[in-house]
Amino acid sequence: MKADRIYNFNAGPAALPLPVLEEIQASFLNFADSGMSITEISHRSKWFDEVINDAVERVKRIFKLDDRYRVLFVQGGASLQFCMVPMNFLGDGDTADYVNTGTWSTKAIKEAEIQGKSIKVVASSEDQNFSYIPESIAFNPNAVFAHITSNNTIKGTQWAEFPDTGGVPIVSDMSSDIFSRPLDMEKFGLIYAGAQKNMGPAGVCLVIIREDLLSRVPQTIPTMLRYTTFAEKNSMFNTPPCFSIYTVQLVLKWLEETIGGLDKMAALNRQKADLLYDYMDQSEFYRGTAEKNSRSLMNVTFRLPSEELEKTFVAEAMQNKLGGLKGHRSVGGCRASIYNPTPLSAVETLVDFMKTFERNHG
Ligand SMILES: *Cc1c(COP(=O)(O)O)cnc(C)c1O
Repeated sequence: MKADRIYNFNAGPAALPLPVLEEIQASFLNFADSGMSITEISHRSKWFDEVINDAVERVKRIFKLDDRYRVLFVQGGASLQFCMVPMNFLGDGDTADYVNTGTWSTKAIKEAEIQGKSIKVVASSEDQNFSYIPESIAFNPNAVFAHITSNNTIKGTQWAEFPDTGGVPIVSDMSSDIFSRPLDMEKFGLIYAGAQKNMGPAGVCLVIIREDLLSRVPQTIPTMLRYTTFAEKNSMFNTPPCFSIYTVQLVLKWLEETIGGLDKMAALNRQKADLLYDYMDQSEFYRGTAEKNSRSLMNVTFRLPSEELEKTFVAEAMQNKLGGLKGHRSVGGCRASIYNPTPLSAVETLVDFMKTFERNHG
């Protein structure tokens, strides 16, 4: 760690790999010998073409996508996808299934309902304050898609395995765990992820879409809200968020070339999460809030014996250069977000701090 930086456990925007930030800094005034910054060049230039095409190729390679899948970059965050998914795919007489596993799924459901679309919430973990992932769900075989949130950033739960929908394509919000593990793409019709958790700065949302779903998109919705507009123009119908896409490209390069791909990334993520959970499990002082078999490897949510102690914990952690440990304002408690870029050393330092804190206050 560099002396003037902290270990950053923010939930999003979140930590980026240091080598990526350094590369941005080094090339910021003169990108690829253009004599201009990446923030100054035309999105129609050969320089930016190389950036976006390389980013798309890397996504395809990392997830082993075949030719049926298209890779798009859309603005408006994951929140716009809540509205675009039902808007693009559900016509008259069509219906979709949703699983409600927390704040973000609830918002996705609401955006479909606002539009008067026919959807059904086939399972929910609201009865236990969203502390688990539902099992044995009866999906409707005639649904156009089944929507899930693969990782619940606020409640600290994650689908360890994806459900059997009987062939209905899964649409997944993967904002907080994209690129954290390998995926069986056969199950998915569409994946979306805001960049600012696990792969870049805010301002761009990655969408991976299977071609057959593109044929459902009606011409009657506004141009900028149609997936086909982005698919036909390589995400450049209008000016894309060039800097964000460039950073995503560098993060994917780091994932492939420095980490060594998704299997390696998944193993490292497992190691980081185990370190934290194993310590918490043998402690009487810290208490994880998610059920064990539903725990997120990305967002580790926990409580201390009192809210007073939680406040002190967050403040003392910050004095020790451990930032971003406060839980989401809607749930309180503490949360350590340990996304792909978070190094093992950050988690080791955090666990050491937690031990010291427990000794002093337990
Ligand atoms: C952060 C988050 C969102 C919201 O993303 P925006 O890009 O801010 O719209 C949606 N879903 C999940 C799972 C998230 O973690």
